[in-house]
Amino acid sequence: MTTYTIDDYRSALSRDLGHISRSPWIPWKWVRRSYTPGALKPLSALFDAYRTVSSLVELSKLVPEEEGCGNGSCIRCGTCCSSLNPGLTNQESYQGWLSSGTLTGLFFREVARPSAEESWYAGWFHKSVRLRICPLLYYCPETGAHWCAVYSLGPGHRPEACESFLPAPPDCWIS
Ligand code: SF4
Repeated sequence: MTTYTIDDYRSALSRDLGHISRSPWIPWKWVRRSYTPGALKPLSALFDAYRTVSSLVELSKLVPEEEGCGNGSCIRCGTCCSSLNPGLTNQESYQGWLSSGTLTGLFFREVARPSAEESWYAGWFHKSVRLRICPLLYYCPETGAHWCAVYSLGPGHRPEACESFLPAPPDCWIS
């Protein structure tokens, strides 16, 4: 299997997205596991999602808040966040994210409308492209830990699958 360097990814991206790829917060370990530089459309969608997040929040200010996150058994390796399917969300949660400005809502899209009053939304999407890892997962080069851009907002701001996740096999290698 070909092992690509970070520079391979940066070279493949367009110039403006290449700029985003120089952010210190990119979780390269998980990007490299889920994407190849040759599959440019999905890779560009992910980095465009990173660009969107960077334009809305200052990640350098968020990371200190996130340092305390995670429960006692979580070593913040990023395994679950890079592989967990966030599942479906109902209209109430989705609208709550949008109205509160929570980033989570940006990366969900409507996938079913069983009736005029009922819709279901799924993540992770950006501009109609299904993302292979969560675009709210970031890396802290100083600690070597991963962090979630919306964790510090408290309950109700992450998908239910994230909020109910407990480190356990097969998602979590520490268990
Ligand atoms: S929203 Fe946060 S907790 Fe959920 S998968 Fe993304 S980074 Fe992980």
